[in-house]
Amino acid sequence: MKLLFAAAEGSPFVKTGGLADVIGALPKALRQSGSDARVILPKYKAIPEALRASMTYLTHIEVPMGWRACYCGVFELEHDGVRTYFVDNEYFFGARDGIYGHGDDEERFAFFNRAVLEILPHIGFQPDVIHSHDWHAGMIAPMLHKHYRHNPYYQSIKTVFTIHNLQYQGVFPYSILGGLLGLDDSYFHPGGVEYRGGVSFIKGGINYSDHVTTVSSTYAREIQSEYYGEGLDGTLRWLGSRLSGIVNGIDQQSYNPASDPNLSHPYRSSLNTKRLNKMELQRLLGLEQQRNTPMIGMVGRLTGQKGLDLVERILPELMDYDDVQLVMLGSGDAHYEHVFRDTSNRYPHKLAVQIKFDEGLARKIYASSDLFLMPSRFEPCGLSQLIAMRYGSIPVVRETGGLNDTVLPYNEFTGEGNGFTFTNYNAHDMLHTIRRALSFYRQPEHWSRIAQQAMGGDYSWGRSAAEYYALYARLTGVQVPDKG
Ligand code: ADP
Repeated sequence: MKLLFAAAEGSPFVKTGGLADVIGALPKALRQSGSDARVILPKYKAIPEALRASMTYLTHIEVPMGWRACYCGVFELEHDGVRTYFVDNEYFFGARDGIYGHGDDEERFAFFNRAVLEILPHIGFQPDVIHSHDWHAGMIAPMLHKHYRHNPYYQSIKTVFTIHNLQYQGVFPYSILGGLLGLDDSYFHPGGVEYRGGVSFIKGGINYSDHVTTVSSTYAREIQSEYYGEGLDGTLRWLGSRLSGIVNGIDQQSYNPASDPNLSHPYRSSLNTKRLNKMELQRLLGLEQQRNTPMIGMVGRLTGQKGLDLVERILPELMDYDDVQLVMLGSGDAHYEHVFRDTSNRYPHKLAVQIKFDEGLARKIYASSDLFLMPSRFEPCGLSQLIAMRYGSIPVVRETGGLNDTVLPYNEFTGEGNGFTFTNYNAHDMLHTIRRALSFYRQPEHWSRIAQQAMGGDYSWGRSAAEYYALYARLTGVQVPDKG
């Protein structure tokens, strides 16, 4: 089975969130089961120099973009056994910082989408399936449909599109339809790429792919409702059985508290050793060094999605009345950056706020915190709660999307559960749930049971990779190897 993953980010090359984790780990897991899974990414300036330096130049071609033809270099690098191709164009990707949010993102990603298809015959890789991720790769399926289906090289390629976050849709003015994408008006209707008078990349992926997945079963259900549907619930309901949910895993080799080089005190399952990491982090961040004070961790983008208005609402109450520390790492909306930084100045020994993207610090927080707070308004899958559980930090989450599918609330009567959950999007429901978790933290026999259950969970890609494989096999007609 030959698979090509097309996405805007992928670990370890470039990462802003969970998408990169998935692109870094799922192809690796699929290769272990015998597939030839490869990845294609833009060659950004942001890719670390050491990785850029080990890439090999393969070839260059010209990619049609409306009336123009643009230079496209192709580089290649094998990392962790996965071959990754890089689409090079100095103007679009090489000469600027950051990944998204440029005024010409539609041009940059239209180019990337077209380049993915144009490159294939030149690199001698004819995938059975192109698996595109999020809006940045959404136009590959309609472009394949329009420009390449007559060409035998492309005729049998199947397409899968995965929605990692429906909130980001890539909607641009009508003028890009012919001007950039080379699509005609037969694509411009609600069942095609049209969305409220504009051209939607994500609708391109949804409406022209052979199958659409999202990253948890609950989110697959939720996005078919008006509340979570971001204006596309009707489109998604229309897919019927062409839409399914497959929950993400994490790279358990990389996220391993026993071997993570970022930790001063690696541990397998010992909560005592884990607390040495906490004391080290307290020292690092200027918090009071208290072994037994429960520490709540938060790592993530500071956006409305992550339920930060709930945290903002109860933060002074939590700081004034509860014996806890809170460590927060993230960046995003200026409002939240300001509010949390400002509050941390008022509670310097209890609240540490770090506004930045820092992988090493993130891992220290997973390893040091006792509780991990994720009260998301919506959460397609969420990887942070999985990483947290792996590091023995007990998640306190709202029951939505992948949080609902991966965190089982603790039941003190049966002893089952790996975290704490609440249902309503309500600040005091969240505070009550945090306090309930804190009450069990003070009862070591309960706490160690919850921690062992969280740390002992299987968050690997194994099962989900097998589900993806079964999907590819169904689409292409390839037999699934018999394990027996
Ligand atoms: P999302 O994809 O919505 O951002 P996920 O929970 O799926 O959320 O994945 C977030 C990933 O990004 C996790 O690996 C998390 O540790 C990482 N991450 C988020 N913010 C930061 C940050 N400021 N510094 C380091 N890592 C971060």
